Amino acid sequence: MSSSLYIVIAGCGRLGSLLANELSRQGHSVVVVDRNEAKFAGLSAEFGGFTVVGDAVESDVLRQAKTGQADCFLATTNYDNVNLMLAQVAKTVFRVPLVIARVFDPSRESVYQQLGVATISPTRLSALAFQAAIQQGSAGQA
Ligand code: AMP
Repeated sequence: MSSSLYIVIAGCGRLGSLLANELSRQGHSVVVVDRNEAKFAGLSAEFGGFTVVGDAVESDVLRQAKTGQADCFLATTNYDNVNLMLAQVAKTVFRVPLVIARVFDPSRESVYQQLGVATISPTRLSALAFQAAIQQGSAGQA
């Protein structure tokens, strides 16, 4: 990514905090939302963005995060249903141009995609990484 983007991340747990730290380090403007304030402890000392405490399902909380001005919205809570809902709201209500949702259940990805929501499935990615590791491992033994 070259130019600086305004990125809202809903969910600051293991995934959201990793993304927030890295995207902030790359020079993007990042706002991260979590309903559990303690989760912001996962942000690095160098994190240069903002935090909003609250349930991202509430429109007021998304407004506080200035979602309407965002170039990109990442739904990274630990609930597929919440991520789908947030992604739809970000897309249709706040008109965010790039919206991506975390979806654990790979069988649900097609539903998201039919609704025009881009998805990333950690489960699917892990399965691919495991298979690649098996191939590398067996190639190393050959
Ligand atoms: P993790 O699975 O470790 O990436 O964490 C997911 C994060 O999403 C946790 O920090 C939760 O507190 C957060 N989370 C879950 N539901 C919501 C919600 N409705 N609004 C804001 N944050 C949420």
